[in-house]
Amino acid sequence: MESMRIECIAIGTELLTTRRLDTNSVWLAEQLADLGLGLRLKTAVGDRREDLARVIQTALDRSDLILVTGGLGPTFDDFTKEVFAEILGAPLVEDAGSRADIQAFYEARNRVPPPANFKQALIPGGAEALRNPLGTAPGVFWEDPPGHPGTRIILFPGVPREMKRMWVDHALPRLRSLAGRPVHTLRLVVAGVPESTLDQRIQDVRERHGHLDWTILASLTQVELLARGEDPAALDRARADVMPLLGEDLACIGGGNLEDAVLDLLKRRGETLAVAESMTGGLLAARLTAIPGASAVFLGGATVYSAQAKAALLGLDPGTLALEGTVSEATSRRLAEAVRAKVGATWGLAVTGNAGPGAEGDASLGAVFIALAGPAGTETRNLRLPGDRADVQLRGTAVALDLLRRDLIIDQKY
Ligand code: AMP
Ligand code: MG
Repeated sequence: MESMRIECIAIGTELLTTRRLDTNSVWLAEQLADLGLGLRLKTAVGDRREDLARVIQTALDRSDLILVTGGLGPTFDDFTKEVFAEILGAPLVEDAGSRADIQAFYEARNRVPPPANFKQALIPGGAEALRNPLGTAPGVFWEDPPGHPGTRIILFPGVPREMKRMWVDHALPRLRSLAGRPVHTLRLVVAGVPESTLDQRIQDVRERHGHLDWTILASLTQVELLARGEDPAALDRARADVMPLLGEDLACIGGGNLEDAVLDLLKRRGETLAVAESMTGGLLAARLTAIPGASAVFLGGATVYSAQAKAALLGLDPGTLALEGTVSEATSRRLAEAVRAKVGATWGLAVTGNAGPGAEGDASLGAVFIALAGPAGTETRNLRLPGDRADVQLRGTAVALDLLRRDLIIDQKY
């Protein structure tokens, strides 16, 4: 069978601005991939009837499965169903079940449904209403709509959690029969290596396992190496070949990121961490505490952005600070040692630097000092990190976490 042409249409004017990102089609693409189905096209379109009509007409002409999110609400700018019905020449008919659901939704909240809400119970004739257990807008499943035999259309509400729930409840059971062979993914997270270096290093293995679908995804904090394929055994063989090439640069396999790797290693060793953050302003702690269970090993720390805070919270001597500079190797070292001692953690990690936008005193733009105090002493790194303010801050947290990670994978304990 020629592969199915699948497209996604995200409806909503806000999706064309910086106010809201279209996350629905990203999520749907991932779900389709799990079914072994590929998304061929996606469109974002604002709440304008004529634009929507054109997008829908094009989709009907070129796709076999059309997944649509948004515009099912009760307000004047919600008209997805109307436009589909108009183009396909089907009347809108009230669906008794949906009407009852809307009524019940309001009654459960001791409210009377505003009359406009019943507009949501209108479903194109010949299509099936999909119950929405989390909201009032039902979805729609439309198979073989007039003039388009073999086409399937699914309309979802725009609210991401409602859309996701309805994908699981309604779309999955109806699409499973179309699924290709499930695709498996091998994911290796690498830290401290630029993507081009990684690319070169794995080139031979990638070519030897050329039947797999390889991707390198770089972000500011790590690089992901992904291989996808239908045969789990082939992925295992690729993993066995690629792992020796990654060595200590490999942070984790499967789910997780650099911070998960650090927390896992600390847990395994029964050790703890405290941080002193100047340039990163709490970002390092935020990344660690975003992970459930971090409290087992991450004890906390201090955001010591000013000289005053460095002195007051971590006891650094103001005279020495002025002499050595707030952004300096010596200060980062003192901060790491102070936070380790004050909190009583196995490791103290500190970041100072200048994230910009301009030079600051003696500290040039992007100058970063990281110190790691541990049972065997203190190590420091002096770096020059590229990018804007947010980039430098985020990269700083990654270098700090990776410095600790590398110390933690050294097996022998002091
Ligand atoms: P609607 O169904 O168009 O009334 O959208 C309901 C809510 O879901 C609004 O807050 C939208 O901004 C949000 N939303 C709609 N489409 C998307 C999308 N593709 N990705 C993320 N959020 C969305
Ligand atoms: Mg909308």
